[in-house]
Amino acid sequence: MDPIEILRVSNLPPFLVDDLHKAYLMHDNNHITDPDVLKRVVAIVGGGESKVDRKLLSILPNVKMISVFGVGYDGVDVAAAVEKGITVSHTPGVLNDDVADLAMGLLLSVARQIPRADQFVRAGDWVDGPFNLTKKLTGARLGIVGLGRIGLAIAKRASAFDMKISYTARSKKAELPFPYYPSAKALAAEVDFLLAITPGGDSTRGMINQEVFEALGPKGFFINVARGSVVDQPAMIKALENKVIAGAGLDVYYDEPRISPELRHLPNVVLTPHMASGTFETRRAMADLALANLAAYFAGTPIPALVPECQAL
Ligand code: NAP
Repeated sequence: MDPIEILRVSNLPPFLVDDLHKAYLMHDNNHITDPDVLKRVVAIVGGGESKVDRKLLSILPNVKMISVFGVGYDGVDVAAAVEKGITVSHTPGVLNDDVADLAMGLLLSVARQIPRADQFVRAGDWVDGPFNLTKKLTGARLGIVGLGRIGLAIAKRASAFDMKISYTARSKKAELPFPYYPSAKALAAEVDFLLAITPGGDSTRGMINQEVFEALGPKGFFINVARGSVVDQPAMIKALENKVIAGAGLDVYYDEPRISPELRHLPNVVLTPHMASGTFETRRAMADLALANLAAYFAGTPIPALVPECQAL
């Protein structure tokens, strides 16, 4: 039997690449020039932000399946895929704990200034006097923008810190005890820490903007573990420079991995390299789900994790 040919469109962990090579004949998007290969490719695999747009789909006439290694799939033009009868899957759930853990790490890091304190000790500055006082996290007010799978895992952890949780989302969740606010701005005005954990893409683009930062205020901190696109980044940098807000903890950025020098030089930010799901355990679980989604498609069995837009089809 001829091998099933698939196309890889982003960097993937070596163990996933090995497993894909064992099961399929896998091509790399930057290596294909042969038009016959383009015709034989029946599936695409790539990370959450890898660009799978209408143009790419138009040169791959026989693609039937896109398996995204990640829960966010904002790089994929799902509308174009659905139009062409292409199935899209992702890896929800298995990364909730890690992303929530990193969110708590960023909350503690910005509140207690742990990275600056580390530098203070290393630089020998302690002999000249104690480190400055910081902000208490326990009992503080946390506003979560996007209370889905990961948002709830963050709320669970923050509850153990006795944080007062409130949220905004597309809809109010009657079954949850937390106060709901209809917008990020209304939420920001009521909290000490505002944390974004929504999907990226057009529906959330720039939703954390200057007005939201003004509402959060000079004692407020912003945490972003969602997507860089969710924030108006120039407005955020200005807000941080002008002390409109106290600080930020960021895992995601515009145009990552190229981070603007203004952001890199700000003293009141803690920056991590989009690593929220980056543990051995979770990346393995994500790989297994991405592989299971592909295998189910080719076996004609139910696909474990279709994106919502493909579930009703
Ligand atoms: P989810 O279960 O689908 O939850 C998404 C939440 O965002 C829901 O509460 C949803 O509201 C809300 N939301 C969606 N669009 C919105 C809008 N336009 N305005 C306000 N709220 C909106 O997704 P998840 O599994 O928790 O993942 C969330 C996102 O986290 C992913 O899409 C990805 O972008 C990001 N992520 C980042 C990392 C990282 O490494 N930093 C890792 C994993 C995921 P409703 O509940 O009302 O529908």
